[in-house]
Amino acid sequence: MNHSTTLPRIALLATGGTIAGSSVSATQYVGYQPAVTPVGALLEAVPALATVALVSGEQVAQVASQDMTGAVLLALARRVNALLAGDDCDGVVITHGTNTMEETAYFLNLVVRSSKPVVLVGAMRPGTALSADGPMNLYRAVITAGSQQAHGRGVMLVMNDQIIGARDLHKTDTLTVDAFKAPLFGVLGLVVDSQARFYKGAARRHTLQSEFDLAGLETLPRVGIVYGHTDDDRTAIDALVAAGARGIVHAGAGTASVSANASGGILDAVARGVAVVRAPRGSHGFVTRRMEFDDDRHGTIAGDTLSPPKARILLQLALTRTRDVHEIQRIFDEY
Ligand code: ASP
Repeated sequence: MNHSTTLPRIALLATGGTIAGSSVSATQYVGYQPAVTPVGALLEAVPALATVALVSGEQVAQVASQDMTGAVLLALARRVNALLAGDDCDGVVITHGTNTMEETAYFLNLVVRSSKPVVLVGAMRPGTALSADGPMNLYRAVITAGSQQAHGRGVMLVMNDQIIGARDLHKTDTLTVDAFKAPLFGVLGLVVDSQARFYKGAARRHTLQSEFDLAGLETLPRVGIVYGHTDDDRTAIDALVAAGARGIVHAGAGTASVSANASGGILDAVARGVAVVRAPRGSHGFVTRRMEFDDDRHGTIAGDTLSPPKARILLQLALTRTRDVHEIQRIFDEY
């Protein structure tokens, strides 16, 4: 049999980021230009890919990931679903900037309708740098997307030898190559040489078990994040409500606490039909209902273990289906 017919067929969707970045010298690690290298050149930089998969490249966007938008997320998710619905695609790899990788990964985890692997990958160093991490990360992402073992585990990230589930993913450092961690629940697996090795699956609902549907969805509801701090007040909350936000994630200190000065703004927002979710400010951990804020009385939602940006993504999708706070709390309890 022809060797190439036994290789997995992987679609590479490129969206920009540092993995497509370029610097003026090999020792420049900051101040480089992200999102410039086209998908064809990313593939050419890793000739070994041809020995492990049949990879086709497609440029979906070319942005630094802080410039990702709901419109790009919707287009990306639709493209992934279309590719995976075909018999000629065994898995998808998405190159992406690391800054908002967590949000895109979690969004796809909730709206991709397939058990085939979807793997996001990025780099902390531009492709022109000494010890650039992008080429090895890309090679390992393709290995993982082509692995039978990767099916049904939800959307994943592969970087720095590790496979991390979309829900658990946290960018924990601004510069180091081990920036991505899964602090609370650990990694799904490791890539060792040319093999993806898994040790667990994703426990919460995702992909085929997800209730969220992109059909007919042209935009995502506006949801903002307010960051609690010493001496804060209701100004940012009121501004979001005035701007037409349908949801607010309040990133509170400690157990997602809310200051007395900000709570009036939250109560008024809820009274106007805005869904308010409490998530922890900087750390990680479980946010229970009624912990230093009476969610039952005030009509707010506890964000479980989601970080504020991921709580924002889930609230956007929840609001495409319901405005009922009990139903939104059920969604946060299940995803
Ligand atoms: N600015 C980059 C981005 O697109 C940073 C990175 O990829 O690491 O997110």
